[in-house]
Amino acid sequence: MATDALQPQAGQPPHDAAIARKKAESDALFLSIGEGAIVTNEHGRISRVNDVALELLGFTAQELLGTWYPSAIIAEDEDGHRVSNIDRPITQVFITGKPITSRLYYRRKDGSRFVTSLTVSPVILEGEPIGAIEVFRNITQEVELERAKDEFISLASHQLRTPATAVKQYAAMLLQGYAGDLTDTQMQMAQTIYDCNERQINIVNDLLKVAQVDAGHVRLQPKTVDLVPMLREIIDEQASKFHARDQAVVYKATLPAAQAHIDPQLMRMVLENIIDNASKYTPPGKNVTVRVRHTRHNLAVSIQDEGVGIPSADIPRIFNKFSRLVNPLSNTVGGTGLGLYWAKKIVDLHQGTIEVKSSVGEGTTFTVRIPGGTAPLAQ
Ligand code: ADP
Repeated sequence: MATDALQPQAGQPPHDAAIARKKAESDALFLSIGEGAIVTNEHGRISRVNDVALELLGFTAQELLGTWYPSAIIAEDEDGHRVSNIDRPITQVFITGKPITSRLYYRRKDGSRFVTSLTVSPVILEGEPIGAIEVFRNITQEVELERAKDEFISLASHQLRTPATAVKQYAAMLLQGYAGDLTDTQMQMAQTIYDCNERQINIVNDLLKVAQVDAGHVRLQPKTVDLVPMLREIIDEQASKFHARDQAVVYKATLPAAQAHIDPQLMRMVLENIIDNASKYTPPGKNVTVRVRHTRHNLAVSIQDEGVGIPSADIPRIFNKFSRLVNPLSNTVGGTGLGLYWAKKIVDLHQGTIEVKSSVGEGTTFTVRIPGGTAPLAQ
């Protein structure tokens, strides 16, 4: 092969022509990148920059070459706060040695700004970082489109909720006999209207919740609360659903109390959602076990089911918006694919994490970790 011909013979230094060719190839590769590309040395000083980057940022190559990247190109968050040098992806790449993908706002030379999606990768030679390369693109249009879509969903959901709530009231009145006694068939029909309408309202509520969190409108109202009675209440409230599926939900009381600093309403909805999923994606006759533990740095609530499980390759997808996986129960149980997306956003706002361990056909364990928290020693 042509590349083999370029390899130096054993013990010989690489041929000048081979080096020149490699350089020409890497130059062509660098210049042909359709996105902004900036290379720095191991001190974060800019050593190369392509035309797309210059066009996006409004600088000339002379103005950037040799300058220290974090001070030459100002990065900000959505609210216009400058990203500290230590938090800049390029600094993090030097610290961790791993590639980083991020979304930031860059200031152009003329002071205007644009939103960018970027990836910074370390350049490693013989195990040592000798620099970094950042590839970035202007995603202003995509972000605008996303915002317009979110606004539309929020508006449409608000408009849909009012008539849907009215239907619920009238269906309930029919069922309660306000319009006179109903025949069995009429009763069944009114009940179907009521149930379908409730599903509709749940969908609309999910859409509204997601629109709110996406727009950054969710502000936590944290309080110190005990998770143990909260979990017991959720289990009690969902008992009839478990019972209808012939499932048992067991609370393993390893801790008598578990105080956490959380937004109780939102965290409760997160846990309700995960417990509800555990029931939905578990066949009749199987169990769901809820536990709460206190570790050195956090409180961990785990919900373990004996359900259909999730293939490991699909686990990251379940937190995506509108993501519903096909599994043996997905057709029989309803869902919008928004619950876990929303739950993760809320747990993120608490600086917590959601971990998933699963084995197909055997079951899944979701663990929500909330930083801090206190618990008396287990009895
Ligand atoms: P949905 O409304 O579809 O339940 P979620 O966002 O709550 O949406 O969950 C996303 C997907 O993740 C579900 O459609 C399902 O495929 C999968 N999933 C969630 N929880 C479990 C579980 N306990 N066991 C198996 N699959 C699950």
